[in-house]
Amino acid sequence: MTKPTSPKPPTNPCEHPSFTKERINGAQTGDYTCDQCRNVFSWGEKLEIEEARKKK
Ligand SMILES: [Zn+2]
Repeated sequence: MTKPTSPKPPTNPCEHPSFTKERINGAQTGDYTCDQCRNVFSWGEKLEIEEARKKK
């Protein structure tokens, strides 16, 4: 009996250590991109992440 190996990548939750203002064609979109995972966040979401990080 062998378990089927799932090709799931190891879950590595990104803590979004730093953000860059997202720019499209040189214009700021008002959103932020995580430097690590490249997810895009709104200003409010970025603020929440930074606040959550401070509490640690
Ligand atoms: Zn991230």
